[in-house]
Amino acid sequence: MTKKATSNESEASASTDVLTPAQRAFCMSHNRGKDTKPEILLRSACHALGLRHRLKANIPGRPDFVYMSSKVAVFVDGCFWHACPVHYQAPKTRAEFWNEKRQRNRARDEAVNAQLIARGWIPLRVWEHDVKADVEAVACHIAELVRERSRER
Ligand SMILES: [Zn+2]
Repeated sequence: MTKKATSNESEASASTDVLTPAQRAFCMSHNRGKDTKPEILLRSACHALGLRHRLKANIPGRPDFVYMSSKVAVFVDGCFWHACPVHYQAPKTRAEFWNEKRQRNRARDEAVNAQLIARGWIPLRVWEHDVKADVEAVACHIAELVRERSRER
């Protein structure tokens, strides 16, 4: 009555090999080395959806890239530096120092958001881990927002 593993083997090996295009792109670019950061992955995914970004704009906060016509500023926030709720773990040593630094970063993020909103911009902050998990989903979200905003204006 025992079911042997052999019957499932082909299925199992097939499923281990299945990656979404986004995951595969991520893995491949990851192997290419240190240059491919999450913001670059996201930027090219957005570009593939037809969005045309700029890297620099004369606005507060140094966003990773921006969409001028819809005034959307994209920030890819690192899980550690911006203390994401999923991955951030306080370092064991110098806890006080890191805690203060984290709070300073968060306060600065919020100040930048407020300054951008005051100038008619939308600060769009995405987590590094979301980009790594599914860059295309994040890019689609950005594309919707950018197109929606372009229509409004
Ligand atoms: Zn995270």
